Amino acid sequence: MLRSVILAASRSSGLERLVETAPLTRGVVRRFVAGTSPDDALRATGELVADGLAVSLDVLGEDTETAEQAVATREAYVSLLAALRDSALTPAAEVSVKLSALGQKFDEQLAYEQARAICAAASEAGTTVTLDAEDHTTTDSTLDILTKLRTDFPTTGAVLQAYLRRTEADCRELATAGSRVRLCKGAYKEPESVAYQSTLDVDKSFVRCLNILMSGEGYPMLATHDPRLIAIGEDRARWFDRSPDEFEFQLLYGVRPEEQARLAAEGYTVRVYVPYGTQWYPYLMRRLAERPANMGFFLKAVSRK
Ligand code: FAD
Repeated sequence: MLRSVILAASRSSGLERLVETAPLTRGVVRRFVAGTSPDDALRATGELVADGLAVSLDVLGEDTETAEQAVATREAYVSLLAALRDSALTPAAEVSVKLSALGQKFDEQLAYEQARAICAAASEAGTTVTLDAEDHTTTDSTLDILTKLRTDFPTTGAVLQAYLRRTEADCRELATAGSRVRLCKGAYKEPESVAYQSTLDVDKSFVRCLNILMSGEGYPMLATHDPRLIAIGEDRARWFDRSPDEFEFQLLYGVRPEEQARLAAEGYTVRVYVPYGTQWYPYLMRRLAERPANMGFFLKAVSRK
């Protein structure tokens, strides 16, 4: 119930303006977002890489409405990738891209062309791109664009959401040699017709999908903070005889940093998803929806100001 309310709030532009202009948020936002500028992102990436972690950087922004915004987002990624290369942070750091930030909702071809330019810049910088998964109305389009991008950039990563009923089939389709696939639970509010609604059903689907990916030919990227699912991931790595360079764990910036360090110390590849930029509102709201304890932290900060 609380999750639904917060996810609805993540789509409210009135609330967005109110929250963004409140003088409260710096400390709260900084917990989950690396900062607003590319320099902030490079600094956070440098610190994580020095600690033995890999990184996927996300230039915050989604639901772009004009071609100019889509091009500006592409340019932000291209210059970020050049800066990562110049700072010797590639290949440890890659980028994650939301196609909706590149115009997918109004011009699929435009989004494909911008994504292609980002993949070319990543390839030049010696690193990779992963296409984030968004709400279920975009899944077919995103997977179509992924297929096209992989023709020239085969390392382009996919993201599959365990809460979607279709995802087991998508895992089977994508568990092929060289295929990088991030598996997550899924962060959007989805209808019962397409998505499992209970925590138990989502977790069971995650495990079925994890089994398919870990027993397949591709490169699974297990994106979860859930201690039980991480333990199952570790177990399946042993069972399917996958060495640490044949799969990875992924966690979000600011979430369970002690677990990130523990997994890295165990010898696993751990990639931290690092968002930065000024358009942090929908991202932050999805994080708050995942964990009511974070909401308490947020409200306390609001009421203090
Ligand atoms: P949850 O069900 O949120 O939590 C399960 C358990 O994990 C909790 O009970 C608790 O024990 C522990 N836990 C969780 N958070 C904390 C915390 N803050 N502190 C301490 N313990 C905690 N979603 C998309 O829809 N598309 C994407 O492209 C996408 N990319 C992602 C990339 C990465 C690297 C990650 C980690 C997540 C991504 N997500 C994405 C979000 C994902 O779908 C989930 O919404 C999010 O990860 C929360 O699910 P969870 O698996 O962590 O488990």
